[in-house]
Amino acid sequence: TASLADTDPQIAEATRQELTRQRDEIELIASENIVSRAVMEAQGGVMTNKYAEGYPGRRYYGGCQYVDIAEDLARDRAKELFNCGYANVQPNSGSQANQGVFTALLTPGDTILGMSLDAGGHLTHGAKPNQSGKWFKAVQYGVRQDDLRLDYDQVQALATEHSPKMIIAGGSAIPRIIDFARMREIADSVGAYLLVDMAHFAGLVATGLYPSPFPHAHVATTTTHKTLRGPRGGMILTDDAEIAKKVNSAIFPGIQGGPLMHVIAAKAVAFGEALRPDFTDYQKQVVANAKALAEELISGGLDIVTGGTDTHLMLVDLRPKGVKGNATENALGRAHITCNKNGIPFDDEKPTVTSGIRLGTPAGTTRGFAEAEFRDVARLIVEVVDGLAANGPDGNAEVEAAVRTKVKALCDRFPIYPDL
Ligand code: PLP
Repeated sequence: TASLADTDPQIAEATRQELTRQRDEIELIASENIVSRAVMEAQGGVMTNKYAEGYPGRRYYGGCQYVDIAEDLARDRAKELFNCGYANVQPNSGSQANQGVFTALLTPGDTILGMSLDAGGHLTHGAKPNQSGKWFKAVQYGVRQDDLRLDYDQVQALATEHSPKMIIAGGSAIPRIIDFARMREIADSVGAYLLVDMAHFAGLVATGLYPSPFPHAHVATTTTHKTLRGPRGGMILTDDAEIAKKVNSAIFPGIQGGPLMHVIAAKAVAFGEALRPDFTDYQKQVVANAKALAEELISGGLDIVTGGTDTHLMLVDLRPKGVKGNATENALGRAHITCNKNGIPFDDEKPTVTSGIRLGTPAGTTRGFAEAEFRDVARLIVEVVDGLAANGPDGNAEVEAAVRTKVKALCDRFPIYPDL
């Protein structure tokens, strides 16, 4: 019965500080969002106590009748959201969702073709330090030199040369819409599976603002915590009964044991929220805000990779200002604007330095920012970057302090979690 503050003041205090940070800082990390109280409540509930290996109605433990309700609702809502026949909501993360698909459809030594990390892909799509790059023969495609957009001709050429068993579309820093029909055509030309990893843009897909992976993808994976605005976790979707069966066996008992039933309950809550009309309004605002942010950054003298964005995220090319991604991330952090350094395609800098930052609008939009606020945010970013350009890697403390004050004022106008 004792509270967290009584039993563990250190964790209670760290949590309180994290709440203050989230309230007072502008969150521009493209993969983050701010979940509802309802999602947090479900995730913080008693379902955390329950072992439920197996699937609803076919568990290896007793007492699963109520967690089954949660998992059934999560699956049904996921299928409705993404208009597909089968959903597995048990992956603990996006990485495990991908690992589950690989376990279902591949064997170690098979060839996979995914987008390289440098071009905007994800670690789990065949990057060398990841299991996907160690256990499979991973071939990587990128973007075109001239317009920095996905190089479909290269995908086709590499597919023809290497005959991969699976082609992966999707990534973590792709600002433009991917042509899934084209990717499927390429996959079909070599008899490969097409996996679409829609982790970043799943919220846009759910609301019709980004084309659906279906019917093109054999299977799709996603995280549930980015644009989809649910708890941290993963999910696998397919329209193919055979693949669904293999995926279920691959997740349990293939790579996971007891599913996180409290997280699955929170996934159900988030999917329920995503089915409501106001979620579509939210996603429209996310995209409009990203366009406004990109435009205003360009007006401030920065470049945006591909000249803009169709989605919730953009890659800012800092080279026109002569500053690096790592120093910019730090300077913006001191001004209470949170983002991450990110390599730009064909970046000459090391991944620990980079020539870019990645920005996204999902979290700011959740707290209520519209285009006017995001234009303000862009101007604040330009102020900090100009301070950095003029003063060297340590930045301009005076400019950063002034921006921090303006950030606080903006955040105070759009409070989050007022009753926590
Ligand atoms: N796939 C993509 C495209 C991602 O961007 C990410 C996370 O950034 C993942 C998979 C992995 O998700 P997680 O961090 O939950 O393992």
